[in-house]
Amino acid sequence: MLKKGSKLYSILTGSCPKCHEESMYKDQNPYRLSNVYQMHETCSHCKTRYKIEPSFFYGAMYVSYAVGIAFGVAAFVISYLILGSNLKVAFGAIIGTLVVFMPVIMRLSRNIWINFFINYDKNWKQNK
Ligand SMILES: [Zn+2]
Repeated sequence: MLKKGSKLYSILTGSCPKCHEESMYKDQNPYRLSNVYQMHETCSHCKTRYKIEPSFFYGAMYVSYAVGIAFGVAAFVISYLILGSNLKVAFGAIIGTLVVFMPVIMRLSRNIWINFFINYDKNWKQNK
């Protein structure tokens, strides 16, 4: 399921949305927080510009809201419904999850956002 050519591949690996050949990020590890937003200007394989227009990635904030809710719901379901903790602990788990996964959420949001606009192109070598 997770192979080159699917949007999910680009979203989960942070690879170039057009050719899926390389990471958009200069540092693969989102937990080096000073580098979390450091991206390459263009893809070195297909020459796609990641920042389609100025402040393109502001739109990713809307996506991060949805992704954050998904993580929060998952934390709540696991702690309250599966582990059977009380409501206070469950809400603590939501806050903790959102803080711990913040860098991952931010990058996932950018990956989802850019994949709205750029599609995988299996002929990217000809269409550069
Ligand atoms: Zn590319």
